[in-house]
Parts: sequence; structure tokens; C-alpha cells
Amino acid sequence: LNPRFAGLGTTIFTVMSALAVEHRAVNLGQGFPDEDGPEEIRAAAARALIEGPNQYPPMTGLPVLRQAVAEHDRRFYGLAYDPAREVLVTSGATEALAAALFALLSPGDEVVVFEPLYDCYVPIILQAGAVPKPVRLVPPDWSIPQAELEAAFSPRTKLVLINTPMNPTGKVLARAELERVAALAIAHDAYLLCDEVYEHLVYGGHRHVPVATFPGLRERTVRIGSAGKTFSLTGWKVGYLSGPAELIGVIGKAHQFLTFTTPPGLQIGVAHGLGLGDDYFESLASGLERKRDRLVAGLRAVGFETLPVEGSYFVTADIRGVGPELPDDDYCRWLTTAVGVAAVPVSAFYWQADPPRHLIRFCFCKTEATLDAAIERLRTRL
Ligand code: PMP
Ligand code: GLN
Repeated sequence: LNPRFAGLGTTIFTVMSALAVEHRAVNLGQGFPDEDGPEEIRAAAARALIEGPNQYPPMTGLPVLRQAVAEHDRRFYGLAYDPAREVLVTSGATEALAAALFALLSPGDEVVVFEPLYDCYVPIILQAGAVPKPVRLVPPDWSIPQAELEAAFSPRTKLVLINTPMNPTGKVLARAELERVAALAIAHDAYLLCDEVYEHLVYGGHRHVPVATFPGLRERTVRIGSAGKTFSLTGWKVGYLSGPAELIGVIGKAHQFLTFTTPPGLQIGVAHGLGLGDDYFESLASGLERKRDRLVAGLRAVGFETLPVEGSYFVTADIRGVGPELPDDDYCRWLTTAVGVAAVPVSAFYWQADPPRHLIRFCFCKTEATLDAAIERLRTRL
């Protein structure tokens, strides 16, 4: 058995969802919407399942979806990618991350990552034989400490993995912060792999700026998107990458031996979604912003301090002084079993020792009724 996997626990999302089901808790833990995305997207996919195509689509993705991804990147960011050679469709952003990291890293390479980090990053980097170099962001605004950032780079740095808007912090990295990171990536001739799955979930006054749009960075940057987040269809696992042909070509080599392809009917549905008008994307964000405000108000009313949420569908709360004095993982277990509301401990997003133990993450991409039920339980049972 490979100890890198045999030694791992089950993901915190699975653990907390199972506990929520067992205790009939309102599940604000694992990040998934409780309403499916647009019916017209699902109808387009359903038609394709009946009428076909239902056999292996092209390895790099159906042309209609690669075209739609390229058009999306041009429409929202002014980025020009050749759909034939600079876009790749994968089975979710998770496979996109695995294919990109396997393709771009060699054993001994170093990867700069930012803690807290999404849980699949480090296991994939390690399996690629590479070495994670974490930079710990500083709450409550999750700023990037410059000295630690510089110290994370070395002559062996091959890649910088950036997640913005960020899970679990809800931070949207500002242009100036990204420029500081990008300057070091250029100085060390490193690639930038940008997990931008929450690109359309950005709120009041904040803007998502892809690093690939910065002067001179397109050629070393690969972007990752996910239909799971953009269209509230997390179970579909349709992801996409865009980047320079040289990098996408090699990532395609890894992809061909991971999954090879992604179900064609789902690709047709997602292509339809990417072509929806601006009003879809605007109402996705404005609807989630209202849900954010509703949950934040409810959490504050029962005494939690909440940290700023600029993007994503997560809010982190400071548990100190609210309920029993417990570390975040025990607190989440208590909250799920005794109060009936599931959340996720933020320490689960740390790889290095001594993570903060006073923060928990709530997911707010839920119906108002679900959010209100959670708030009511917190109000009466905490
Ligand atoms: N990256 C981040 C930051 C995420 O939060 C998630 C999913 N929840 C993923 C990647 C994986 O996305 P997918 O479901 O498309 O594989
Ligand atoms: N990305 C989702 C979250 O952060 C969960 C995905 C999963 O369960 N693997 O909650």
C-alpha cells in the first residue's frame, strides 16, 4: 500500500456530511448548493443523453465546450485562447489539478502554496514527488506576509498554486497581492496554476482578476474553472483548463491517462451554460450575496465574530466565547450532534503543524429556509 494514501483519513467534507445525516443536522459543512443550477443546462444535457453523442468524446473535450470556454475567457477577462490547443476539459477541477500538477512537476520540484489550502492540493503534490512550500496567510484579512512569501521561493521553485476566490477563507486576492506573488514567480521562472473555480462568486466591490491577464504572465499561467461552482452542479464534475498551448498540451498527456474524457452529454450542458447571458452570472452572485448577508447576520446575532467574505460560498466564524471551549474539530462535532448544525473546522485546511483552532467554516449556498433553520437552531440551542 502507498503510505501517502493508506495513511490518510477520509476527507473532512465526507466525514461532516455523514455526521450531519446521522444526527439530522442542517448541513452547512460540505460545500454544495441545495438547489440545482439552471434547468435549461440540465435539459440540454438530458437531450444529449437521449439523442447522443454517448460514445467517447475527443480526449481534450468536445469542440463545442472548448469553444465555449475560450469564448467565456474572452468575454469576462479579455483573454484569448485557441480552443483547439489552449483549452482542455477534465472531470472536475480536481482532475484538472491532478493532471496539471502531474504534468508540470518533476520529483524534487518545489511548489509554493498558501495555507489554509483546499484539501486535495498537498496529497497530489506529494504523489508527484514534489515538495509543498506553504505560506501561511494571516487572519482576519488573510494577508500574505511578505517575508514568509519570499522565504518560500528557492532555486527549486517550479510552480505557484493560487486559489482565488479562496476556499475556505472567502478571500479574493487583490491585484496588488497577486502582483507580489507573480513578481516572485517570474523571478524564479515558475509556473502559476490558478484554481479559479469560484471566479463568478464575488461580492460587493470586489473583483476577480485572473493572473493570466497580467502583462507577460499568460505564457506561464494555467487557469482552472469548474461547472460545479459556476452552474451549481457539483455532482457533474466537469472542469476546464485554459493556458498556453505548450502547457495545455503536456497537461493533456496526463489527462489522457487519468480519465481520458468526460461524459459528452454533460459537456454539452456546460457549453450551453457558458453561453448564458450576463444576467445569469450577475444573479448567481447577487443571490449568493444575499444568502451570505442572511447567514452572517444570523451568526453574529448569536455571538459569533465572522471574518470578511469577499467571494466563494463560505463564511468563517470565530468560535471563541460562543458555546463550549473546544478546538475547532471537536467544536464542529459538538455543533453537529448537540445543536444540529454542521460546519467544517478550518484546521482541516492546514498541512503544517499548529493550525489555528478557533475558526470554523459555514457554507451559505443553501435555500433561505435552510439558512433560517440553521440560524434558529443556533439561536435556541447554543
Ligand atoms: N478547488 C477548490 C478550491 C474547491 O473548493 C473545489 C471544490 N469544491 C475544487 C477545486 C474541486 O472542484 P470539482 O468539484 O470541480 O472537482
Ligand atoms: N469543495 C467542497 C468544499 O470545500 C467539497 C468538495 C468535496 O466534498 N470533495 O466543501
